[in-house]
Amino acid sequence: MKIFKKQADLQKYLKQYKTTSIGFCPTMGALHAGHISLLEHSIAENEINVVSIFVNPTQFNDKSDLDKYPRPIEKDIQMLLQNKCDILFLPDVNEIYPEDYVKIEFDLNDLDKEMEGRFRPGHFEGVTEVVHRLLEIVQPDKLYMGQKDFQQFVIIKHLLQITASPTKIIMVPIVREKDGLAMSSRNIRLSPQGRKKAVMISKILFQAKLMALNKSLSDVLAFTKKEMRSQDLDYEYVELVDCNSLTDVSRSNPPSNAAICVVVRIDGVRLLDNLILR
Ligand code: AMP
Repeated sequence: MKIFKKQADLQKYLKQYKTTSIGFCPTMGALHAGHISLLEHSIAENEINVVSIFVNPTQFNDKSDLDKYPRPIEKDIQMLLQNKCDILFLPDVNEIYPEDYVKIEFDLNDLDKEMEGRFRPGHFEGVTEVVHRLLEIVQPDKLYMGQKDFQQFVIIKHLLQITASPTKIIMVPIVREKDGLAMSSRNIRLSPQGRKKAVMISKILFQAKLMALNKSLSDVLAFTKKEMRSQDLDYEYVELVDCNSLTDVSRSNPPSNAAICVVVRIDGVRLLDNLILR
């Protein structure tokens, strides 16, 4: 595996692959099987694969969350080696945001105002900024992102459309622990009791998905919230949204698929999860 810290070196190396297919998986490190699943999808579909690890400061609205973000870089490198990653891009902040860097404002069509947008102001501005920069550098044919961050996926898909990007985005399903908890770099911050409680999040979502087969979406939403409260799960939001527009569909029958998206706070950790219902 090659490791590049400078964009110029990475670009020079990637030149020889311009006529083949480059797969790209952007991450913030503290890698787990969810991230590796992105890499596996990329390996299966491309000639060469780039994983980036960059803890992007501009997407953290909470400074202590940024400070506490785990950075086990040696362990990450081992994991990437074991999983046949070709290239690790490991830039520092100045490499992504050099002095002459000019920020571009993207029209996100209010997709950034829903769900996470209400609790993490400026978060998606930071996410689109960094993904746009990384795409400019890597210029991949295919970009792999997880369903785990559902809203992020929809927003980046929109970004690719409005920038007329030739890169194709691929959604990789959520990888879960054996007991159903969605894998996340933040799970290690849960206490043993918190970790036990966290199991209920996906349990309730799977029940909601079953219920959506023969009940109205407003019933599904009411059920999910009630179950969360009865399990003492402190949710920031529970929403039923259209998979493309992210608008609320809890009172309608959406023309396309609907997803149920939740954020639950346990031990001060924000845990995201979602399921596509129909
Ligand atoms: P992060 O390092 O948290 O920024 O995540 C990097 C990428 O990995 C994003 O596209 C995430 O959606 C994806 N990802 C994170 N956790 C999972 C998971 N449990 N299953 C699948 N993809 C994931």
